Amino acid sequence: MSGVCFVTLSPENLERFGADPRERFAANLALVHRRIAAACEQVGRPIDSVRLLPITKTVPAEILRLAWAAGVTDFGENKLQEARDKAEAMADLSMRWHVVGHLQSNKVKYLTRLADEFHALDSLKLAEVLNKRLETDGRDMKVYVQVNTSGEESKFGLHPDDALDFIERLEAFPRLKPQGLMTLAVFSEDPDRVRPCFTLLRSLRDMAERIDARITGLSMGMTGDYELAVREGATVVRVGQAIFGPRPTPNGHYWPGLA
Ligand SMILES: *Cc1c(COP(=O)(O)O)cnc(C)c1O
Repeated sequence: MSGVCFVTLSPENLERFGADPRERFAANLALVHRRIAAACEQVGRPIDSVRLLPITKTVPAEILRLAWAAGVTDFGENKLQEARDKAEAMADLSMRWHVVGHLQSNKVKYLTRLADEFHALDSLKLAEVLNKRLETDGRDMKVYVQVNTSGEESKFGLHPDDALDFIERLEAFPRLKPQGLMTLAVFSEDPDRVRPCFTLLRSLRDMAERIDARITGLSMGMTGDYELAVREGATVVRVGQAIFGPRPTPNGHYWPGLA
């Protein structure tokens, strides 16, 4: 394994990511994969039933090239504008982009140009506008329906009581390919507060699957809670900081109302 990295980083990136981010990302990635595997084993799930989606928000394009070199091929971004800028800066590499954050319906044309998957479908209006745009572009899109399982106002997503009705209505939008449900659990160190968010999403998924057999997925679990999420049935974990290091921006930048 070559430990030498010939890229000269800007001083601020050097300070945030260290001299050899590629090596560190590879090591972090391997560690997260091992932890996912261990969590699967604990509950008797096959290891390949969980997909790791690296979340790269705030990580600059220069650094993402090193993540690519470390083996990251899929990039999840919260904000569309940021994803667009980076995708443009890295158009020479064939990366897959996933948008995991709330989207305004007037932005869908940028989403459909860019993204493989969308993890934050949370309104019929958005479903309708997105479906229409996909029709125009002649493509389909994999979507996850976001549910607010924590009851916190700062979180986007459908109210759990509305999720099944919403799933039934998705049939009207043939370009959308529903894959599953998505949630952000309550931000807490206490697993007894976090777990109910995951079990709620799972039980909603079980019911949704009876309405639409394609809805098998559970996109849940982040740096602080992905192992718990895997034990509770996650099929996609969205992990950023455990791979790329702590973020300089507070979470409130992404989820209004949080510190
Ligand atoms: C940032 C983000 C994540 C990952 O959070 P980390 O703490 O970096 O693991 C997951 N999901 C969404 C929607 C995010 O915006």
